[in-house]
Amino acid sequence: MNSRPLYGAIEAGGTKFVCAAGYGPLEIADSRREVIATTTPQVTLGAVVAFFERIRNDGGVFAGIGVAAFGPVDVDRQSPTWGSILATPKPGWSGVSLTRPLERFECPVTIDTDVNAAALAEARYGAGAGVASVAYVTVGTGIGGGVALEGGTIRGMLHPEMGHIRVRRDPRDLAFAGICPFHGDCLEGLASGPAIVARWNARLGELAPEHPAHEIIGGYLGQLAATIALVLSAQRIVFGGGVMNGRLLAHIRATAARELGGYLPVEERGGGFERLIVEPSLGGLAGIAGALLLAAR
Ligand code: ZN
Repeated sequence: MNSRPLYGAIEAGGTKFVCAAGYGPLEIADSRREVIATTTPQVTLGAVVAFFERIRNDGGVFAGIGVAAFGPVDVDRQSPTWGSILATPKPGWSGVSLTRPLERFECPVTIDTDVNAAALAEARYGAGAGVASVAYVTVGTGIGGGVALEGGTIRGMLHPEMGHIRVRRDPRDLAFAGICPFHGDCLEGLASGPAIVARWNARLGELAPEHPAHEIIGGYLGQLAATIALVLSAQRIVFGGGVMNGRLLAHIRATAARELGGYLPVEERGGGFERLIVEPSLGGLAGIAGALLLAAR
């Protein structure tokens, strides 16, 4: 019998839910981790509850459960719909509560966005260790961003939605209207994976190295990086997600440097753009480690 507090964690994604239990964010035993496909809320959440019930039946007593969820999700404790997925294009999931099924475990439940949780984990254990202000951006099916500031995350009216900022259009890309259902050519509408496929019929990694797409997409994401540096005074900006690769990261750094025009002391105090804009160092573990950090709050 282990007397240390046991924490539960859920990384709730659009294609899969990862469940884990551990005594700390980096102490997840293989036998206490399970990947569940995201199908209907009833089936998926039923499997999630069954996972934690098995651990409880083995004598596990949860001190807290953390949920790192795809958004948009209501993270306002004062709201009557706290813990619920808000309007989402994912069929059947709008309005579904991710926290209510966990009440049976009679422990504190904390919920935040997957990207805020990833920012928290990278700030504590990964690419952002040792600095106070860390942003985590994922570029995949959509573009999401989270922020960890001095050990906490930014939440307010909703949560950061930096994927939907406006960017200056590349002159070579003016014919494309963008695919965001809300804004058309916001950043996500221009630079997410589906937006890339929509105009070039291929994923970024499949296009030739000299194809202008790399520079165009890197240019848009570099504008986001410069904005994050200016608005949040971020010391580390982590770019992850299925669209990212080394070539794209280089374009993001170059654009951010150009956009900032030497205004911020990135070289003098931040160690340069190679230190400011980086790849994740926790890889696929950032979300679940972040959820365990939330649980341990
Ligand atoms: Zn948008």
